[in-house]
Amino acid sequence: MNWLKLLLVSVWLGAWQADAGCEGPPSFEFDQRIPNGERAKLSRWLGEAAWAVADLAGQHPAPCARIRVYDGGRGRGAVPWAQIDRGAREGIRFYVDYRLPLNTLRSDWTAMHEFSHLLIPFPGNDQPWFSEGLASYLQYLLMARADILSPDEAIKRLDRGFRRGVDDDAHGDIALETLSREMWRRHAYRRVYWSGAAYFLAVDTELRRRGKGSLTQVLGQFVACCRQQNRHWTVDSLVQAFDRLSGTTLFTDTRAMMMPQTRFPDLSRPYEYLGLVRTDAGLTLNSGSPWRERRQRLVADVAPPALSTLSR
Ligand SMILES: [Zn+2]
Repeated sequence: MNWLKLLLVSVWLGAWQADAGCEGPPSFEFDQRIPNGERAKLSRWLGEAAWAVADLAGQHPAPCARIRVYDGGRGRGAVPWAQIDRGAREGIRFYVDYRLPLNTLRSDWTAMHEFSHLLIPFPGNDQPWFSEGLASYLQYLLMARADILSPDEAIKRLDRGFRRGVDDDAHGDIALETLSREMWRRHAYRRVYWSGAAYFLAVDTELRRRGKGSLTQVLGQFVACCRQQNRHWTVDSLVQAFDRLSGTTLFTDTRAMMMPQTRFPDLSRPYEYLGLVRTDAGLTLNSGSPWRERRQRLVADVAPPALSTLSR
């Protein structure tokens, strides 16, 4: 993150703390075991992730989100554990290693992943491929949005995530729909998370290919129109809402195509669109036009201006 952005985030964080009415931004609460001297650093780190998600969607997806931060212990990574709180007041519980320096905390993907979960309401526990897929798809793209990663590095990390999903292949010939439902029992986390991320990459690139906007625009519109509706949401109703907002049937059609598959989703079409070629040596990114620009837009996309309430 360059100095100008760091300054803007700092000003924005300051605005949060001054906002006693709590009309949108998250608020932070720290466990007493976290020393006072560490809290500004943690607020800056987690606030940046909240900002990146709000910047993507055009506004905070969960107003007044309650962010509780606990000591997660030493030597188990930046965020050994995190949990989304649903209910009357939504939020996230982070268990963190507060001792780590800011740069180490920022280079961990977990904060971006967890805040991404707030973009949609809780759709139930029966189809985790959808919510975990969305968060896994966005986590590295949001790190690039915050200038923690370059766009191409974000794409490379996404590709490595997909490879982890492909390599998680000890589950036999089980359709993704079933594997997702039985994810916890079968410990099929990587396969399910990254299959879900592949779904969102496929839909996002197809929307762009057809000139029908992007996933970012759909999410921005969803947050504006529907996120806070007092109703029960399921994966079915979310997919239908996303189709309606995009003016396509891509969310439904891609789901119908992927769910019966017993192998990891085929990514050749989105990879072709983004100029990505897998080789034995790793991932090659075509540096020519229009592929480079397409990858940059995948990262820098913003919600429609009319919906944007944040300045950068
Ligand atoms: Zn998650």
